Amino acid sequence: MLVVMRHDATEQDIESVVATIREMGYEARPMPGKQRTAIGLVGNDGKVNADRIEAQSGVLEIIHVSQPYKQVSREWRDEATVVTLDNGTQIGAGEVSVMAGPCSVEGEAQIIGIAHRLRDHGATILRGGAFKPRTSPYSFQGMGEAGLKLLARAREETGLAIVTEAIDSESLDLVAQYADIVQIGARNMQNFSLLRRAGRAGKPVLLKRGMAATVKDLLLSAEYILAEGNPNVILCERGVRSFDTHTRNLLDLTAIPVVKSLSHLPIIADPSHGTGLRAKVIPMARAAVAAGADGLMIEVHPDPERAMSDGAQSLYPDQFGELMEQIAVIATAIGTRMVPPVAAGQGAGAAG
Ligand code: PEP
Ligand code: MN
Repeated sequence: MLVVMRHDATEQDIESVVATIREMGYEARPMPGKQRTAIGLVGNDGKVNADRIEAQSGVLEIIHVSQPYKQVSREWRDEATVVTLDNGTQIGAGEVSVMAGPCSVEGEAQIIGIAHRLRDHGATILRGGAFKPRTSPYSFQGMGEAGLKLLARAREETGLAIVTEAIDSESLDLVAQYADIVQIGARNMQNFSLLRRAGRAGKPVLLKRGMAATVKDLLLSAEYILAEGNPNVILCERGVRSFDTHTRNLLDLTAIPVVKSLSHLPIIADPSHGTGLRAKVIPMARAAVAAGADGLMIEVHPDPERAMSDGAQSLYPDQFGELMEQIAVIATAIGTRMVPPVAAGQGAGAAG
């Protein structure tokens, strides 16, 4: 439930509504807005009797949020959530941001080398898994903390922000120490204890859609993170399982406008995992930008044939450069633009 205060409501009016909500046994979340303050009521499992609150001074209206997800819904907050990173990148502010990098961090030369190339092409966020959720226990599982250290070094040198995955509570605590964005992967989208922990980790969270999850499931999973007090959640459409075997997954681009209408959270698309095939990544990346995605996640490897994971879907660096040029044109055509590149001079190894 949401209590919308009149624009002339006083501090005292707001405090008194907060106190009433607490007295009723619920949690109150005041949300000051440009026009007026709203106070969210959380902790209820059904409809709340709002009579006591409605009668209070300064209250304009009570909105009963009709969706099962509350804080992520547009009813709760109409204004888009913007996630701002230390390097200045904003996700959700109406510009297209690009997270790119190899599936896995494999070594120093690989990650530092590719970071420079991606930055030169206009990416502002570097991806790379240090903890890999692999389908087979015999596949490469990632470099662990050593990989996180290399990502931090790449950030120092280039000024790129870092997004990397946490696969369990142990890796989450480590990832939160190093990363700018903590990634929760498709396989963990409904790992509710991990989501709660991510909500308390103090870093923005990239939440990927599970491969058999509905949009509603995705939004309810995001609600777990917001319910812990972390509003900085970025959703990611990365494809769902289908009956067709021509691609690894079915990239559901409809999810982008659907999420936009239901939620204020930013949503990006990952056409790399969404298709599983290098030749299909570029057309689907273009389509995702055209569909209104707030950004893209793209796997790029300096030598895809030798990649330790997901080589078949990884772009060559030059292909990534071409893609960046193309999506800049598409962004302009739909009235948006690319996130500005990382400022020259940012990062210890930056030229100038
Ligand atoms: C990844 O981004 O490397 C990854 C494993 O993605 P997903 O969770 O979408 O499969
Ligand atoms: Mn991958």
